[in-house]
Amino acid sequence: MRQVTVIGGGLAGSEAAWQLARRDVEARLCEMRPAAGTPAHKTDRLAEIVCSNSLKSDQPYHASWLLKEELRLSGSLLLAIADRESVPAGGALAVDRGRFADAVTRAIDDDPRITLVREEVRAIPPSETVIVASGPLTSPALSDSIRDFCGSEHLYFYDAISPIVDAATIDRSKVFAASRYGKADGDYLNCPMNREEYERFHDAVMQAETVPLHAFEETRFFEACLPIEEMARRGKDTLRFGPMKPVGLEDPRTGRRSHAVVQLRQEDRMRTSFNMVGFQNHMTFPEQRRVLRLIPGLERAEFLRLGQIHRNTYINAPEVLAPTMAARREPRVFFAGQLAGTEGYIENIATGLVAGINAARSVRGEGAWIPPPESAVGSLCRYVSTPRKHFAPMNVHFGLLPPVDDGARRLGRKDRQARVARRALERLNACRPV
Ligand SMILES: Cc1cc2nc3c(=O)[nH]c(=O)nc-3n(C[C@H](O)[C@H](O)[C@H](O)COP(=O)(O)OP(=O)(O)OC[C@H]3O[C@@H](n4cnc5c(N)ncnc54)[C@H](O)[C@@H]3O)c2cc1C
Repeated sequence: MRQVTVIGGGLAGSEAAWQLARRDVEARLCEMRPAAGTPAHKTDRLAEIVCSNSLKSDQPYHASWLLKEELRLSGSLLLAIADRESVPAGGALAVDRGRFADAVTRAIDDDPRITLVREEVRAIPPSETVIVASGPLTSPALSDSIRDFCGSEHLYFYDAISPIVDAATIDRSKVFAASRYGKADGDYLNCPMNREEYERFHDAVMQAETVPLHAFEETRFFEACLPIEEMARRGKDTLRFGPMKPVGLEDPRTGRRSHAVVQLRQEDRMRTSFNMVGFQNHMTFPEQRRVLRLIPGLERAEFLRLGQIHRNTYINAPEVLAPTMAARREPRVFFAGQLAGTEGYIENIATGLVAGINAARSVRGEGAWIPPPESAVGSLCRYVSTPRKHFAPMNVHFGLLPPVDDGARRLGRKDRQARVARRALERLNACRPV
């Protein structure tokens, strides 16, 4: 029988199971929730989004847009559902997380070729074709088995998740609605700060008590997702040039730019909650409440969720994987998602898609599909399978894609990226997975 086991019903695993089913291969999708949980998931839904509800830019020709376009072209289930369940977010694709996870769960439940098994898998099965997509919070028993399989040590680093504010507790007289550079219809709420307010806030962050890290874990932060206290430590103005940058956000009431701005992004369709953009942190909960309420407009804020620290588990992929997402040593075992070294929701859906397609092709006795290296999907697969000295999970960006020919050097950055993106779509279109 053509059957593949998928471990983990997250973003990568759900997409992989769907891709198997589309190719008439039976998928046994094993998800440990709700019997066993993770430090970040809150529900028993498949494809639960654990932090920001933003799937990043959906504007031509951003790298993240390109990856989304490629997933649309390749028949991704999760991208189609994300498009359907989107909420306004300027030029970004953001989703109503509840509706998104419900729709993915329904699609998987309704597919007769997918069997959803609610149990923890404690070891990589010994002989069948399997996709391991158990994510950055893989359970300890399975982590041990993966480490044994890979023959190399796991690597650890930390991310931290952003707080969510109850919309009803935001002081609307102090904030203004606007998207940066006047894009879209003011989808964000902005809390402006003058110099004095900013400096008081910076000092409070610097003095705040943080949650101690476990002794057995190493402190290496992912640069694109630094906790705010880490940024504050790097310099008085680092936050002002990072998540609190005021450029492109003139206050319509004064026509002037503030010294710093905290942006709040709509979390759900009903605008009942707002995510503090880029405010991941690992201050203690009481300290978060105290410090974040120094922000104008949030003096009486109630937080639906506070920031947290978490461990991120991933394999040393370049030592283990081929660009098909199969293990080089034992090609019946595939890896996908964050565990395989791609970073970010869309990137993890992408490697889930590739692993699903190739596991299906493998059990059907067909040759593997390697996405073209000029595409964003292909560049991610190449990144995780190319040996390098210091490997860390990676978001998609144009630096991963091969440059266009010499003539384009005279072009500006945006034109060059547009050409790289158009070429990527052409190449992928020419060898789309079947
Ligand atoms: C706290 C946190 C915040 C993040 N914030 C963002 C963000 O804001 N933006 C962004 O782009 N990315 C973010 N990421 C990174 C990443 O994009 C997400 O974690 C994403 O969900 C990873 O997708 P995945 O499919 O690899 O894993 P997951 O979506 O986590 O899915 C893995 C699934 O496997 C299950 N599982 C684990 N072990 C077992 C087992 N032994 N047996 C059966 N099932 C198992 C889990 O319950 C889970 O459902 C964040 C990660 C974390 C941990």
